[in-house]
Amino acid sequence: MQIKTGFEPVKNYLMRSNIIIIRKLKFVSLLSILSVMVHAQSNPLLGEFKTPHTTAPFPEIKNEHFLPALSEAIKTGEQETASIADNKEKPTFENTIEALERSGKMLSRIRSILFGLISAETNDELQQTAQEATPMMVKYQNDITLNPVLFQRVKAVYVQRDKLSLSAEQQTLLKNTYLGFVRQGANLSDAEKEKFRELKTELSKLTLQFGENVLKETNNYEMHISDKNRLTGLPESVLEAAAAVAKSKNREGWTFDITMPSYLPFMKFADNRDLRRELYLAYMSKSFQGGAYDNRENIRKIVNLRMELANLLGYSSYADYVLEQRMATNRDDVYNLLEDLYTASYPAALKEKEEIANYAKKTGFSGEIMPWDWSYYAEKLKEEKFDLNDEMLKPYFELSKVIDGVFGLATRLYGVTFKPNPEIPVYHKEVIPYEVYDADGSFLAVLYTDFHPRPGKRGGAWMGEYKSQWKENGTDSRPHITIVMNFTKPTETKPALLTFSEVETFLHEFGHALHGIFANSTYSSLSGTSVYQDFVELPSQIMENWAVEKDFLDQFAIHYKTGEPIPAGLVKKIKDAENYLAGYLSLRQLSFGFLDMAWHTLEQPFKGEIKEFEEEAWKKTQLFPIIDEACMSTQFGHLFAGGYGAGYYSYKLAEVLDADAFSLFREQGLFSREVATSFRENILEKGGTEHPMILYKRFRGHEPSADALLKRSGLK
Ligand SMILES: [Zn+2]
Repeated sequence: MQIKTGFEPVKNYLMRSNIIIIRKLKFVSLLSILSVMVHAQSNPLLGEFKTPHTTAPFPEIKNEHFLPALSEAIKTGEQETASIADNKEKPTFENTIEALERSGKMLSRIRSILFGLISAETNDELQQTAQEATPMMVKYQNDITLNPVLFQRVKAVYVQRDKLSLSAEQQTLLKNTYLGFVRQGANLSDAEKEKFRELKTELSKLTLQFGENVLKETNNYEMHISDKNRLTGLPESVLEAAAAVAKSKNREGWTFDITMPSYLPFMKFADNRDLRRELYLAYMSKSFQGGAYDNRENIRKIVNLRMELANLLGYSSYADYVLEQRMATNRDDVYNLLEDLYTASYPAALKEKEEIANYAKKTGFSGEIMPWDWSYYAEKLKEEKFDLNDEMLKPYFELSKVIDGVFGLATRLYGVTFKPNPEIPVYHKEVIPYEVYDADGSFLAVLYTDFHPRPGKRGGAWMGEYKSQWKENGTDSRPHITIVMNFTKPTETKPALLTFSEVETFLHEFGHALHGIFANSTYSSLSGTSVYQDFVELPSQIMENWAVEKDFLDQFAIHYKTGEPIPAGLVKKIKDAENYLAGYLSLRQLSFGFLDMAWHTLEQPFKGEIKEFEEEAWKKTQLFPIIDEACMSTQFGHLFAGGYGAGYYSYKLAEVLDADAFSLFREQGLFSREVATSFRENILEKGGTEHPMILYKRFRGHEPSADALLKRSGLK
């Protein structure tokens, strides 16, 4: 939905993979655990890791080690929590809150390794293991949050929080721990608790159903064309892919569908307007056509149950419940953000629409520009305006040079250095492990890099942790971070040459990695990227700003054959093209943000028509006439099948934050050590130890303002 989907750090990713796993939930096969249990002695996951920096001993870890190790670790964790609950001493911060935080370490270590491998180097057996492990871990977590004795101890500490002299980080830990219980219903009466559980169960069924319906509708549609004359405009590669799909179904001709790789190029390049319209309507009417996979009733149920759940916990709407743990603390914050951006984006989008319409007219089009015309003419105008494509840039972005450039940027900003250490074990020979050292020579972290696609690696790019950072008994236990990509591979004749967007992706994930590498918290649950969902993209997105800076590119963007540095004209083109249709793209994201907030600020049960509600909620953001067959809500998985309910605005907030934060570098020097040090000390090192607004203001000196973003994208 967002242009950069799939680039979230591992926390979000883990949530998502759990959803996938739960879909195929099966009973834990106890026998298989027991049979391997006898060998627990020799299980490498359970012993101390005798490797450099106690990194995971990947080559020794076999699939069958995970389940017995996890059940052993769960047993240990349960003993740890039991001894906290059974403690005869009066509850204190140390013997309850801190003790809880320190419990379950072995489990989270093994879990990180399992889910890290599930995304980067998986196989059927490992998938099966994760499916069996997930309910075990969910049960472990529930047994903690639903334990009334434990909760009474937590609450006893929480109510006297003002009298305890706690550090800011300890206060955050106390509040998070208490809210962790309360938001799972710990303060409710027994009857209410029962209701709470029912609502949660029902909601998880409905959200799962929602996603499956959209998937079914996507997979059920295809458009088969047997006359090539109807497919003019489409590039050869797109036609080849469509022909391959047709062939796989034993047909002559070309088959298109509404998955992204087929849909997007068709809408951009196909000259045939009727076919574009047909495909657009198929795409936009998913789960909105009646029948078994219609999502309208599911939406009614989901928004009403979410509201009921929030009410039960004492909030007036689901948005209020969600925003309690966000940088945007309430719905006014969110609406102010959306409105500020709307004011600037709408007029710009109108102008862009006029420009596209004029261009279309010039090429012989008559009539009104409709949504199925937009991408087509926008793409043609873009080619005419910028004369820029991937092939022109790729020769300047040889992977090994880009690595030097990105690592070099961190050295220039923060003084850190990267030293490969082949002694550190890896899970695949393409993975390169580095030791990261601080400017004073002290060890900071292990960083694994894993760049190319292969079977067993999921698509997209992400950052993750095999071990987080914490401090205990005077020792700072440093993190093990990984960045995983799916970049163009080298060939026999050519080194790996990246597209510009791959360079941006590298910087993005590397920004998440720095958040992990510099982590400097006492408690693991507040360390590194463990921050609110709407704050986590600041450290990553800010890095992308350097990608279009000539001073940065000049360090490494050198033609792999001629050795020529990237021409200034080309850099200017990249910059100009970045802002193409900025108003329209911004307005589109805002329309989703308004729609999301409308659904999740409901305070009365919703019984109306989905389409009508949607049109009302976002009408001021719409550039095209209403299309009766189209509905966004019924296919909006972010809101109704994923974790972005009352959170879609985060995409825009992240942009506001990264532009506003980067403007300080712009003012004081793109490579200013002072600004970088302040960013490191106030944001990156702090993780989730304090409220993000406090951290941000310490760095920037004021609350984030949309000005820098509007300026950067040419909207102001
Ligand atoms: Zn990200």
